[in-house]
Amino acid sequence: MTKEIQRNWFEQYMVPCFAPAPFIPVRAEGSRVWDQNEKEYVDFAGGIAVNALGHANNELKETLSSQMENLWHIGNGYTNEPVLKLAKDLVENTFSDKVFFCNSGAEANEAALKIARKYALDKHGSHKNEIISFENSFHGRTLFTVTVGGQPKYSQDFAPLPQQITHLPYNDIEAIKAHISDKTCAVIVEPIIGEGGVIPATPDFLKALRELCDQYQALLIYDEIQTGIGRTGYLYAYEETGVEPDILTSAKGLGGGFPIGAMLVKQHVAEVFQPGSHGTTFGGNPLASAVAHKVLSIVNQKAFLAGVQERHQEFIRHMTDLNQRYQVFSEIRGKGLLLGAELADKYQGKAKTLTNLAAEEGLIALIAGPNVLRFAPALNIEQQDINDGFARLENALKRFVQE
Ligand SMILES: *Cc1c(COP(=O)(O)O)cnc(C)c1O
Repeated sequence: MTKEIQRNWFEQYMVPCFAPAPFIPVRAEGSRVWDQNEKEYVDFAGGIAVNALGHANNELKETLSSQMENLWHIGNGYTNEPVLKLAKDLVENTFSDKVFFCNSGAEANEAALKIARKYALDKHGSHKNEIISFENSFHGRTLFTVTVGGQPKYSQDFAPLPQQITHLPYNDIEAIKAHISDKTCAVIVEPIIGEGGVIPATPDFLKALRELCDQYQALLIYDEIQTGIGRTGYLYAYEETGVEPDILTSAKGLGGGFPIGAMLVKQHVAEVFQPGSHGTTFGGNPLASAVAHKVLSIVNQKAFLAGVQERHQEFIRHMTDLNQRYQVFSEIRGKGLLLGAELADKYQGKAKTLTNLAAEEGLIALIAGPNVLRFAPALNIEQQDINDGFARLENALKRFVQE
């Protein structure tokens, strides 16, 4: 039956801004995925760091179906019970005092950048409008967020672009010291650059950003869309260094596969948004909020987060072992279950070739730029899935080094 739906319909009917794999996944459970031909894959991608609890998680299914029986959508003229529960738990378990909900990462960052500009305008005046971001960062695809992102190839074709946005080298304390000024209204940073290559910030860099933002009365925004919700072994990555942002954005794993985004803020920031300042139709809807509340309640447990750290060790062990035998990686890095392996010089530009071979061998993996193999599996991935996934990666590597 399903085969009546053809993969080439993508080329025929869809805007070609993606290049999806040649197969069509139709069903998934835990960290296994099946395509139209019943071929099975191990999932080391987690829907790009989204399916935090794997596919078809029973608790999430129950939560969604029971909410589905009660209330789907009501609009922002009313609040709803699931969103209130979710907001309370996010505030009580993080640095933040208030939350704004939306539907994606880009929207969360859009809200963060807008509130930062308004905060600076209200409290300091219109001269304070510069946003500092970092080279190779990724913050989403709306015009504002894509311009703030540090990859000009994604924004240059859409000019004229939003103004007063500066990109500085990541992990370079001297560069930001030399540049930040009273005109800076916000600094936005990924605690680990995700899409741009899985590059962790140094603790000293993050501490310096906090100090400089305090000194120049600029807001510090952490984009934790990829690193949040247990991904690094902490509920949010900022906890590891103890550097607290003023604003934090979350999405991806927050809904465990159901679309939701959130902007977490301190009270002094929250209050510059009043009714009418900003909004969304679907943000904070009961379905997404109920699922996200369940995800948060499962992930935010000591034992669960310790499990992420254990799985990290397991992944590093397998990656190191494979690299000793095939010598394809020059560096293996990342935290928790956000892992990157930089390809050695002779394999530059070949990350996609490797993930294509992996898919043929039955492993779904990610890239982070042309030179980095990236894994962002479910945070509860099972040992058997890990073992099978790496056995399949080894099959792919054997072919990769021969090509
Ligand atoms: C994925 C991602 C975004 C964009 O999220 P969308 O849901 O695709 O809009 C923004 N920032 C980071 C760090 C991301 O990883």
